[in-house]
Amino acid sequence: MTARVDCVALDAKDAIAPLRDEFMLNEHEIYLDGNSLGPVSRAVAARVNEVINDEWGRGLVRGWNESGWMEMPTRVGDRLAPLIGAQPGEVLVADTLTFLLAKIIGGALDLRKDRSVVLTDVANFHSDLYIVRAMAARAGRPITVKAIERSAIESELNDDVALVMLTHVDFRSGEMLDLKGITTKVHDAGALMLWDLAHSAGAVPLDVTGANADFAAGCGYKYLNGGPGSPAFLYVRKSWQGLLENPLPGWLGHARPFDFELDYEPAEGMQAFVTSSPSIVALAALDGALDVWDRASMDQVRAKSLQLTDLFIELVEARLPGVFEIVTPRDHAKRGSQVALRHPDSYGIIQALLQRGVIGDFRDPDIARFGFTPLYLRFVDVFDAVEILVDVMKGESYRDAEFAVRNAVT
Ligand SMILES: *Cc1c(COP(=O)(O)O)cnc(C)c1O
Repeated sequence: MTARVDCVALDAKDAIAPLRDEFMLNEHEIYLDGNSLGPVSRAVAARVNEVINDEWGRGLVRGWNESGWMEMPTRVGDRLAPLIGAQPGEVLVADTLTFLLAKIIGGALDLRKDRSVVLTDVANFHSDLYIVRAMAARAGRPITVKAIERSAIESELNDDVALVMLTHVDFRSGEMLDLKGITTKVHDAGALMLWDLAHSAGAVPLDVTGANADFAAGCGYKYLNGGPGSPAFLYVRKSWQGLLENPLPGWLGHARPFDFELDYEPAEGMQAFVTSSPSIVALAALDGALDVWDRASMDQVRAKSLQLTDLFIELVEARLPGVFEIVTPRDHAKRGSQVALRHPDSYGIIQALLQRGVIGDFRDPDIARFGFTPLYLRFVDVFDAVEILVDVMKGESYRDAEFAVRNAVT
């Protein structure tokens, strides 16, 4: 079994270990929830301060021109593009994820007017299911949304399927799907593919170009560390730009917003998917958060992520044999950057860990979820977290009555 000294040695030779200093973390806590809300980095604080004190504070309304605020959604999008394997001009940062999904779903259904089925995963994130059903109901023609088992998607593909919408890394189990393989099969059936990358961007290597994905979107506040409610990102493959219509048009997606024309004419490129005024302070936070990627490659991050999740699984199995079902796939090709443990008392376990300074989260009905974020997590953190988990399980502190009532946010 890997010992604590081995973990210290692994940290000592870890090339991206120094990046931890860029983040504001509480000294006596182990943060295994960066998949839900990433921490603040120093660059975020600096960039936000710059906007508040200089661009907005001094510049006032001039900031729109002088500080390039109007271009921020596409400029930050271009910075983010390499993380998902997109080209410059293919990514926009705006809104939040559910809104961006609505835009793509609405637009995509219009691109396949002769088809009437949308396929998605019954285990998809609830917000994704709500919005796809709502957009389908407003498509102007009857659309059936089939939310089915992931394994059944392929056999349901036929020439009536307009769109397939899947989340690349499952938010509960951490299972990662085959981006390219699935996209290819969807295209063979003549359908369009929308990927939700909420748990993938900044967590695993992505190549939307190589996969020939049509559309993708993901959160800014999870592995990208953009802050609570951070704007999300949208990818539209170049060949669809100008064809895919934004079903929620607004003045800032117009070709000439300051001509105040009464008829809508979409701007070129990704700008057409902007609806409203960009959230400059929030965009600045995400912009700052992306600085850390100037010093780390996704390959380094992925290699360490697999080491961290392997270590966690190894230690949980060795120290707590048979206590948890390990839900996350062992196969590296099918694993995101989190580990999900199943136990009937998962809610209490997560709360008891929280009291001991180990922060994970609970996902209904019985999943204790732990995110592993190589930019700031050490191997010793994984070791220490498992030791505390052992304590919690042996002492049965998770059974305490105070953990019987659930908080609003789990
Ligand atoms: C986090 C998450 C969302 C929620 O995104 P919002 O920006 O709050 O709309 C949607 N889908 C998936 C798969 C998620 O993980």
